[in-house]
Amino acid sequence: MPGRLILATRSADKAREIRQILAPELHDIVLSLTDAGVAEDPAEDHIEIFDSFLDNAHAKAGYFLRLTGSATIADDSGISVDALHGAPGVRSRRFAQRTDLSGSALDRANNDRLLRELTGVPDERRGAHYTCAAVLHLPDGRRFAALGTCAGHIVLEPRGTSGFGYDPIFRVAHTDCTFGEMTAEEKHRFSHRARAFRALAPVIDHNTVSR
Ligand code: IMP
Repeated sequence: MPGRLILATRSADKAREIRQILAPELHDIVLSLTDAGVAEDPAEDHIEIFDSFLDNAHAKAGYFLRLTGSATIADDSGISVDALHGAPGVRSRRFAQRTDLSGSALDRANNDRLLRELTGVPDERRGAHYTCAAVLHLPDGRRFAALGTCAGHIVLEPRGTSGFGYDPIFRVAHTDCTFGEMTAEEKHRFSHRARAFRALAPVIDHNTVSR
């Protein structure tokens, strides 16, 4: 159906950020999966099976385009820690292996595990970066993608309550603040997600709003 852009995520935190990053002209046509009438299905747990952010983002967008028939945007993202050889990476959401938890309880468990794994690792070896792969799939089969990264450090203890996920323990390079200590607007000045979606924005605009 023309004039609809499906936002293929079940994460309210990601959806909020992506809407803030996208141009206001898109807001009227961007639909959450719920608004598009796509009920949650256990099969969704088996979409992100790949070892790259890009492959997982394409898998998500392709899955929901097949269900809705509409242009779809998706992101796959995560944090990679140098001292852990890039882990948790594409497995960031389930790093703590706590399938019984969700939301902020899961975020806390993931942060606790990461801090535990870095016990005794000095500041100069606590480098990390976020990655976001943002993709757009169109009903005619065309696919577009952009990658964004954000470099920083894992701090010793959580700082701040903004953002989500690993934000309270990720200090942004060249700043004194974690994402947990920044406003949403400040986070979007640096974030992997803002960089990826701003790079993708011209093709989203061109193929949806101004079509
Ligand atoms: P995805 O749904 O597989 O893309 O999972 C992304 C996971 O990576 C999230 O659940 C968070 O744990 C982490 N993550 C990705 N982006 C961010 C961010 O901007 N802040 C904090 N954590 C993030």
